[in-house]
Amino acid sequence: MAAYKIGVLYGDGIGPEIVRATVEVLTAAAERTADATFEWLELPMGWTAIEKYQDPLPERTKQALEHCHGWIMGPHDAAAYPAEYQHKRNPSGELRHYFDLYANIRPIKTMEGIKSVAGEADLVIFRENTEGFYPDRNMYTGTGEFMITPDVAISTGVFTKKAAERIAHAAFRMAMKRRKKVTIVHKANVIKLANGLFLNTCREVAKHYPEVAVDDYHVDAMAAHLVRRAKDFDVIVTTNMFGDILSDLAGELVGSLGMAPSINTSDDKGMAQAAHGSAPDIAGQNIANPIGEILSAVMLLDWLAERHADQALSGIARLVETAVQKTVAEGVRTRDLGGTASTTEFTQAIVGRIKGL
Ligand code: ATP
Repeated sequence: MAAYKIGVLYGDGIGPEIVRATVEVLTAAAERTADATFEWLELPMGWTAIEKYQDPLPERTKQALEHCHGWIMGPHDAAAYPAEYQHKRNPSGELRHYFDLYANIRPIKTMEGIKSVAGEADLVIFRENTEGFYPDRNMYTGTGEFMITPDVAISTGVFTKKAAERIAHAAFRMAMKRRKKVTIVHKANVIKLANGLFLNTCREVAKHYPEVAVDDYHVDAMAAHLVRRAKDFDVIVTTNMFGDILSDLAGELVGSLGMAPSINTSDDKGMAQAAHGSAPDIAGQNIANPIGEILSAVMLLDWLAERHADQALSGIARLVETAVQKTVAEGVRTRDLGGTASTTEFTQAIVGRIKGL
């Protein structure tokens, strides 16, 4: 029986509540199948790390993650950190940069019993994660933003063929396992050189996957298409900022941002992280929806299962996924989904299902 070492980074706001729920659910599923075990390694990140180590992402956390099979990342409230930390990359930006987690994969799927304002949807957004218009990660050193005078700011976008190639390959590989359709989203009509490079590189990569149908849309048109006919899309590949925006939109369209999972991967590291933020407005009230974080962990298990050719992990992933779906379909829901269950009640309902499945 294989044992997997998984880092656990609670983070800020609702982070400790939803990450704790995730660990509890995965532990129950592993015990139920007895085919794989998890060794949880709690590592400092966020406000607690600032208080103890004067750093929201201490060196010791990064070093420990080098030796983990993957990790579960809570959200952080970096905008609220003291001024001396504002010049640094926030913890997720730093981890994405440090481990070169170039693919941010965000599935959007309707769930039985949850109202979707966009009708049926089952799509996956592949967001390039290392460059584009994000000044915290698109430079080797320093930041990609400058202020020439107090009234003039310049923000740079960085687009490379290498980054477009690897995210496109990741998207096409996924499409081959799904409905064999990739949509490239860009704004090459205006950002002609940079987004033109992205678009053309994706089209070149497409030639390696002749079975996959390819189309492309400008990002503004894509926002409208997602609302009107989300069901027509399978895999979407896009640049960093467009992927960030479209995935929040799509997540909310099919229910709640609190349900939207995501995983960040390189070729050998995987970080599960819900698409939403730390939700400080509801932190500590035991009302947060843990589904986004739990399903992110499911994605991590699937990614590890493929890497290690371990069916046991896929089995645990399916057990957790089914338990979440059945719990929601039965009407047990947190407040953001119109229910009354607290985070812990909802978590216990899932654990109960896992034990009974
Ligand atoms: P960030 O910039 O870190 O992504 P944000 O400020 O854009 O964060 P969130 O923290 O994601 O936004 O919160 C947006 C809204 O969604 C808030 O009203 C928050 O309470 C709600 N929300 C986010 N996550 C959840 C969740 N898991 N359960 C319930 N509500 C949530």
